[in-house]
Amino acid sequence: MPEDLVTLHKPPITAGERKISRFMLLFESIVKVPLFRCQHCGECLLSSTAFICCQNCPKRLRNGPCGGTGEDGSCEVYAERKCVWYRIYFRSKRLSRISLLYKINKIHDWNLEGTSAWLNVFRKRIDGPIWLVRNDKQKVKDMIVDDVERED
Ligand code: SF4
Ligand code: SF4
Repeated sequence: MPEDLVTLHKPPITAGERKISRFMLLFESIVKVPLFRCQHCGECLLSSTAFICCQNCPKRLRNGPCGGTGEDGSCEVYAERKCVWYRIYFRSKRLSRISLLYKINKIHDWNLEGTSAWLNVFRKRIDGPIWLVRNDKQKVKDMIVDDVERED
């Protein structure tokens, strides 16, 4: 498996660090649970998903919708809700952050579940947030051209 598709639990979380993580998670929760309904995955993708937590998808998908999204944008599992990825797409468009949706997010490392994402950024297990996106439309065009050229 290509290394850049998985966090590979680097550096490993020690027992001591898990204790610190629990403490940090308390503070993280104060901000991220009410604002984003954070599910404590430990590998935060918020800045790549237009600040909507993709982990509220019942299937916990991290790289786009499942294919069962209704035409009206409803979720396949909970029809009364909008698909999380449908919302992410439209908000990304509004915020000019569509190019970030082309990035392949890593496979979730379940060892990091329930740990502090802030600590994991600090320890360089996961990438830090992307705050500013410049030339979003141009980046998307470039990526589409690259894809077409690869297929030729
Ligand atoms: S840490 Fe994971 S669960 Fe929490 S907001 Fe970020 S992506 Fe969502
Ligand atoms: S429709 Fe959307 S929110 Fe519902 S399970 Fe599929 S990807 Fe997840």
